[in-house]
Amino acid sequence: MTREEYANMLLPNVLHDRKYYEEKYQKRNLKPGAMVTRIAPSPTGFVHIGTLYQAIVANKLAKQSGGVCFLRIEDTDQKRLVENGIEQILEAVKAYQIPFDEYPIDMEREVGAYGPYIQSKRADIYQAFAKDLIIKDLAYPSFLTEEEKKEMTEKQQKRKQRIGYYGIWASKERALTMEEVKEKVEAGIPYVIRLKSKGSFDNKIVIEDCIKGKIEFPENDMDHVLLKSDGIPTYHFAHAVDDTLMGTTHVTRGDEWVSSLPLHIELFHALGFEPPKYAHLATIQKEEDGKKRKISKRKDPEANVRFYSEKGIPVEAVKIYLMTLANSNFEEWFLANPDSDMDEFELHFENMSTSGALFDMEKLLNISRNYLSRISAEEFYNQILQWAETYSKDFIEDLKTYKDIIIATLNIERNVAKPRKDYGMYSEIESNIKYMYHFENPEYEWQRITDKKEIVEILTTYIENYYDSSDTEEVWFNKMKEMCDKLGYASNMKEYKKNPDNYKGNVADVSTVLRVALTGRSRTPNLYDIMKIIGQEEITRRIALLKN
Ligand code: GLU
Repeated sequence: MTREEYANMLLPNVLHDRKYYEEKYQKRNLKPGAMVTRIAPSPTGFVHIGTLYQAIVANKLAKQSGGVCFLRIEDTDQKRLVENGIEQILEAVKAYQIPFDEYPIDMEREVGAYGPYIQSKRADIYQAFAKDLIIKDLAYPSFLTEEEKKEMTEKQQKRKQRIGYYGIWASKERALTMEEVKEKVEAGIPYVIRLKSKGSFDNKIVIEDCIKGKIEFPENDMDHVLLKSDGIPTYHFAHAVDDTLMGTTHVTRGDEWVSSLPLHIELFHALGFEPPKYAHLATIQKEEDGKKRKISKRKDPEANVRFYSEKGIPVEAVKIYLMTLANSNFEEWFLANPDSDMDEFELHFENMSTSGALFDMEKLLNISRNYLSRISAEEFYNQILQWAETYSKDFIEDLKTYKDIIIATLNIERNVAKPRKDYGMYSEIESNIKYMYHFENPEYEWQRITDKKEIVEILTTYIENYYDSSDTEEVWFNKMKEMCDKLGYASNMKEYKKNPDNYKGNVADVSTVLRVALTGRSRTPNLYDIMKIIGQEEITRRIALLKN
């Protein structure tokens, strides 16, 4: 039996050979220095904030260098797949407007010439390369059962040896002749294809990571599985094949893969490929009881990108925040250039953290408040409406009915040098502005003046003698002061502080009565603006509520 016949027996249903695929996927024609990056999420559950982070970093690096960024779905681990996993990834990519150049649109359609971009559709490609390794005696079949594997591990534990399939542990199957293998295959014994490692644990290799710098490892000496018994590849093998054929220049991926580097480097060499550059991104961490830990899929709701959508934290704010985690100098740049497009900032590996980036919800909300304070009220309204259509259906009717009032409210103290920063999430808007269009049975937050008779006196005096809907803000405020003098309150704060006992209170106490009477709240945006928006009739009605 020739080695070709042997390889054919082991992988009988392969349509094409390695050469076919190498010719099919031509080298990308890009200018020098252009980076080809990707994210390669597995559809094993909800989309993790870390995946979004990686997507933003990978895209930015590609775009700023004139390169390409693509999305590859890694759905080869059948046991961990979840229903709708792929849809969730595609949805998140859409929601966050991640500008991939190449990606699957859905299970059938895709954009890009290096696909399929869903690994389960690439089985023939992996098998073609595995077959080539078998022909070159760089890979071999392994018939080890789960039971035998367990026994081996137990022995290794007992002897305090490294766990895994290497050296003497692999020697028996490595030594099987083609005839012996044939017998087993014909007997229907299932098998996987393993790498025939040439490495030695006593040798060291040094890898230059773009973020972590030089890292030294012992060489890989494990005969890792390349193809499982159903012909589906492991992550490691698929990574080497795909990132080569797809022309990835820089693999930006999670820190948890660092320890696999020796295996990956060996795989690239066995396949005759040039390894890409690696940049291992620090994981997003959380502080709990003074200790840092990886943000957890199970424990932390903020690990799920849907959390931000549900809360209504704007996409733009989340992206800006993730950029601050990616590069320590981004924040400074952004503060200095608040109106610039994020794309104008250059991301550099040198400025990326080697330890974990700490997730800080308060900081994210601050960024969000800033962002929302700088867009136009109309744009803000549209974003709220869009959010409500998915996450707050009950709010939609009011949003539509009171559109003008709501936009006017959002517009209070907006187009000024220091705009108000009242809102950080769309989900906080309704409860914060409802009093503007819905004012029945309010709970009044009275402050210093609580006596009902006094309150009614102030309000009656105001509405009968001082209120004029056509007043300018200045006149309005002067009248408030005049009324204070009349009712025994200090209109001048300095005077009041000198002799507080001479007065019933001061102008702030009086205007608070008006504010609470008209809104229920002791703290609101500019009261004059609020009064302009709700209008004379409604002001009169609200004041009358207290007189009864
Ligand atoms: N499928 C791997 C994961 O989800 C991808 C790692 C990589 O980016 O290469 O962790």
